Amino acid sequence: MVHKLIILGSGPAGYTAALYAGRANLRPLMVDGGVGRGQEMQGAGGQLMLTTEVENYPGFEHGIQGPELMHVMRKQALRFNVEVVEDLATRVDLSARPFRVWVEDDLYESRTLIIATGASAKWIGIPEEKPVWEGGLGGAGISACATCDGFFFRGKEVAVVGGGDTAMEEAIYLTNHASRVTVIHRRDTLRASKIMQERAFKNPKIRFIWNSAVESAHDPVDKKLSGLTLRNVATGETSRLDVQGLFVAIGHRPNTDLFAGQLELDANGYLKTTHDVRTSRYGVFACGDVQDHEYRQAITAAGSGCMAAIQAERLLEAEGDTDILETPTNW
Ligand code: FAD
Ligand code: NAP
Repeated sequence: MVHKLIILGSGPAGYTAALYAGRANLRPLMVDGGVGRGQEMQGAGGQLMLTTEVENYPGFEHGIQGPELMHVMRKQALRFNVEVVEDLATRVDLSARPFRVWVEDDLYESRTLIIATGASAKWIGIPEEKPVWEGGLGGAGISACATCDGFFFRGKEVAVVGGGDTAMEEAIYLTNHASRVTVIHRRDTLRASKIMQERAFKNPKIRFIWNSAVESAHDPVDKKLSGLTLRNVATGETSRLDVQGLFVAIGHRPNTDLFAGQLELDANGYLKTTHDVRTSRYGVFACGDVQDHEYRQAITAAGSGCMAAIQAERLLEAEGDTDILETPTNW
């Protein structure tokens, strides 16, 4: 059977695409990412499964827990004839239509495809980065998103790890909330662009600790962050830094390995899109963090999921029931 639409991924972008496509009677098949695989690969529900309070998703006056929001999104989408494969897509062939998607040895074919495989924040690799319900401090002081969680640190001292533009941007943003922001960088020069460096250096609330790495965070037993142990990578000396927040800002990796060589990617590995959600291949759409390194928010991911579903619906509508599936290069 050739499906009208397959959706890869079940974060806010994937569920919103499924909701719209389901209501448009496209009977989409969603490959949802499967069971959670920790910080690296979130499984069904995506990145918000790794966090606690979400206060900036409209519709929830008092905020909502990330996993609960994703649970509700799933239930809402699955009301509308969405078939789900609870696993990861392991291979795709986008060279001709119908497109082919494999989940291990199982093959699924589709006239159109929506890629909503998101991105993964890179982590420094200390055990305390695990979510709080797995015994770490993730969501209880440790975060990878200042726009999302900065608000919880009003008047408090926080640290940012990283020396690139993301780290500078996060540090500068955090000065709107925190009383002091300490940037911890593993070398003595920044990788960030000159203009971002200058902005950070000029900001009186930001200070730098150079040549240092975070060795551990305290204390998972209390379920809240009170400080860090730092190691000077040049001398090996360790020291304590008292902070209530730690923002890991060493970059994100878009989940695009499956598409390398088949779709155009930008220099940082994100899917390139035109007309908001069209990839370089006719009939293949991309939405959410997999194509957006600028905003990276649940609401923007959901918005682009809606756009992808509407564009897929229009393409299928224009084609009608024909078996001749064209792949014009210009669209
Ligand atoms: P994701 O949420 O990344 O979902 C991608 C999905 O694709 C996952 O289900 C994954 O398992 C699946 N997938 C990956 N590879 C495959 C494959 N090969 N086959 C099938 N499925 C696959 N944003 C906010 O707006 N507010 C917040 O408060 C907020 N807090 C955050 C806190 C943390 C700790 C983090 C990390 C992010 C936070 N964000 C927040 C950002 C927000 O989570 C993302 O912008 C949003 O989840 C992106 O949605 P998405 O659907 O594009 O991708
Ligand atoms: P990046 O440029 O790769 O920088 C990552 C930083 O994190 C580097 O300083 C790196 O250290 C450090 N790092 C990496 N792994 C680490 C680890 N395990 N432990 C400790 N530190 C680690 O990534 P980015 O900052 O996310 O930027 C990605 C791209 O987006 C860049 O092209 C950037 O210009 C762009 N961007 C632009 C803006 C803007 O212009 N406003 C904002 C955000 C991003 P080293 O320096 O030692 O390698």
